[in-house]
Amino acid sequence: MTEATIFDKIINREIPATIIYEDDYVLAFNDINPQAPIHFLVIPKVQIRTANDINNDNAELVGKLYVAAAKIADEMGFANNGFRCVMNCNPDGGQTVYHIHLHVLAGKPLGWPPYQETLKK
Ligand code: AMP
Repeated sequence: MTEATIFDKIINREIPATIIYEDDYVLAFNDINPQAPIHFLVIPKVQIRTANDINNDNAELVGKLYVAAAKIADEMGFANNGFRCVMNCNPDGGQTVYHIHLHVLAGKPLGWPPYQETLKK
């Protein structure tokens, strides 16, 4: 059986979160440890553990994460200035919660690239 995560508790309203968007398929709420002036997470209401588990059967649902992000960006007024969507995968990607989520970061120009160390040959 798939292990529940803290995001299931947020979906089930067992722990509080600042929910900014919800429909039948996805939920969006502010990140508890924001890394930009605007930083929220968009998650599917059913658990997909990592980006490695995205496939043709759930592709439409994963697409709905981006649809929600674009809708929220428009409604919150930062779509034109821009934003970044990130999905971390597994330890090297920095994933800590094993229920896929889009980080949506906005509100200032964001640095790029995110990987700052010198690449060694
Ligand atoms: P990741 O490291 O990509 O798996 O991202 C997990 C994110 O979930 C982190 O940015 C955390 O700050 C965020 N997070 C963890 N617990 C909560 C919570 N209870 N409410 C909101 N965001 C959370």
